[in-house]
Formats: sequence, structure tokens, C-alpha cells
Amino acid sequence: MIPVTKTFLPPLEEYTAQVSRAFQNEWLTNRGELVLELESKLKTYLGVSNILIMNNGTIPIQIAVKLLGGGGEIITTPFSYVATTSSIVWENCTPVFVDIDPVHLTIDETKIEAAITSRTTCILATHVYGNPCNVEVIGDIAKRHNLKVIYDAAHCFGVKYKGRSIFEYGDISTCSFHATKVFQTGEGGAAFCEDEELRKRIFYSHNFGHNGPLDFHGLGINGKISELQAAMGLAVYPYMDKIFSGRKRAVDQYNSSLDFKVLQTMALRDGTDWNFSYYPIILDTESIMLRLETALKENGIVPRRYFYPALNTINYIQQAGNTPIAADIASRILCLPLYADLGESDCDRICDIISKILQ
Ligand SMILES: *Cc1c(COP(=O)(O)O)cnc(C)c1O
Repeated sequence: MIPVTKTFLPPLEEYTAQVSRAFQNEWLTNRGELVLELESKLKTYLGVSNILIMNNGTIPIQIAVKLLGGGGEIITTPFSYVATTSSIVWENCTPVFVDIDPVHLTIDETKIEAAITSRTTCILATHVYGNPCNVEVIGDIAKRHNLKVIYDAAHCFGVKYKGRSIFEYGDISTCSFHATKVFQTGEGGAAFCEDEELRKRIFYSHNFGHNGPLDFHGLGINGKISELQAAMGLAVYPYMDKIFSGRKRAVDQYNSSLDFKVLQTMALRDGTDWNFSYYPIILDTESIMLRLETALKENGIVPRRYFYPALNTINYIQQAGNTPIAADIASRILCLPLYADLGESDCDRICDIISKILQ
């Protein structure tokens, strides 16, 4: 079977060597030695000025929405993983859906201003598949209307935009280290924030609000990552260059083998140093896409309908807005298998099946 993604696992003895450090320390959580070391390594690797790693990639989004959303309306994209929308609703804010740009698949920045009302507090946009939103225009709109910007950058480990880590854009940016993501700690994630005051509030928020054992700075939740998760991160980390080059090889092969007259992929925004995180293909119609999905599955290849359905169609959403492009693209997009050791012959087989079905 060829799955859509495969978790990169380090050699078991390298993982157990990291885990045994936690045993020696007799210390399993509350920002121990392994968590601090992983943060410091990732900070250097990503070229960021700050990082706070957490227990998954959803908690930092919820904390960001809690701190910046103020119970108001949050302008967001319908084309993302459900955690983007659910975090808004979970924190008692109202998602206001704006359509996507059909070329980059990120929120259409030209449609944001029309969605702003007196209740709008934030923009929460996703750099979907690691493709950056138009961060310059979004930043200008936010400044003009006094809004905060949160980026769900769950897919963006290693992505740079105009030479800078994509995590440095927006008021708060988040990442996921879930087992299916490019860099993984089993479950894990991070928040990035340039503003020192806000960064402190994120820090307190992820640890019950504790400011020392007896003092509380404010309301908090438990977003702490454990030493055991950090052990996985420390064991995976030395392989990042290998992971990226393996993924790049497969992406290059798809790019040169697929026929872009019969299907489309996303266009990367100019200035992007991408991380080869997903390979979406957009077919002409939903029925062609379904026919292709069936043919791939019959051959033991499992693509995924990332991201379907559009998030504004979920049953707890009251105001779906008008997002025909997201609805259309979500209905006919498919992500092809992509992981570090996806072999050349497997890629060949996938491309052959695609060309047979689409000819
Ligand atoms: C994976 C993902 C998340 C959630 O991350 P977890 O680590 O699984 O909690 C959020 N947003 C997007 C776009 C994702 O793909």
C-alpha cells in the first residue's frame, strides 16, 4: 500500500537514546532538558527569534484566538484543516468565511476588506500546503483596520518567504508537529510571536496561567509538550535535510511526469522557499477526481481529499458566507502520496495511473 503520507521514524535506538535521557533525569514534563534543547535546535534550524513548543498544533491556535479574538468575528478561510475553524468556534468567536484565490489556494486577500465589520477582531488565515498567504497585503489591511493577524502555519515547517521564516509573519503564527507533518514529535506544535508582551501571555496561557507555583497571571490551559515527545523531535531533527531532499525528489518527479494540460496543481507564491509538504492536484470535475481516486485505490495507492469538505459547510457553522471558489476546488482536489522515501518506481506507477485515467 502507498499511503498519502508516511511518518518519518528515526532509527529506534536513536529514539531510545533520547528517551533514556528523560529516564536518567527522572523528569517527564514541565519544560525539562529535552524540551529546552529541542526549542533551541529548532530556533536555529528555522532561523526564528523565538519559539514556544506545545503538545499539539491546535492548542496554540486556540490560545491565539483566545488572546486576540475577544469573542468577536474572525475572518478566515474555508479551505484548511478543520482545526482552523474549530479553534474559532471553540473560543466562542464567530468565523466569517472569505473565499480563496484559485491559483494559490490561500485566502483571497482582495475579498477580506468587504468582510470586515465593527465586530471583526482578527484575521486567521492558513498558509495551506505550506504556500504563504499574501502576508504583505493582509498585514496592510490589518494595520488599517486595527485587526490582529494569526497564521495557521501548521504545514509550514521550514518554509521561508522572501528569505525570512514564514513563522515571523503575523501577530501569532502556529505550527504542527503531528505525525503526518513534515517534522514530527508524534503529537506536537509551536507558537511564534514577535511581540514580547504577547509572547509572555502565550507562555502563561499554555501553562495554566502559572507565574511561579503560587501566582497566576491569568486564565490558562495545559499546552505543555512532554519530554517523551521532545525525545522524538530530537531523534527526527538530524534527518531534516534528508526528509526535505527525499520529498523534493518526489515533487520534482511529479512535476516532470504529470500532464498539466489535464490537471492543475497550486502555484507557489513568488518569493517562497517551499518545504514539499503536500502535492495537491486539481481535476476538471468532481466526477473525474472520484474516478481517479477509485483507480488509485484499486492499485493500493491511497490519496486523500485534503481539504474536503469546505469548512463553512460543517454542521455547527451558522454563517457559511459565499465562497464558491473554495466549494468548487474542495470538490475536485486530491493530495497525492508524498513522503521522504517515496520511491521513483512508486511515483512512476502513480503518474501512469493518472495519465491512463485522464487521457
Ligand atoms: C495538522 C493541522 C492542524 C492541527 O495540528 P495538530 O498538531 O494535529 O493539532 C491545524 N491546522 C492545519 C491546517 C493542519 O493541517
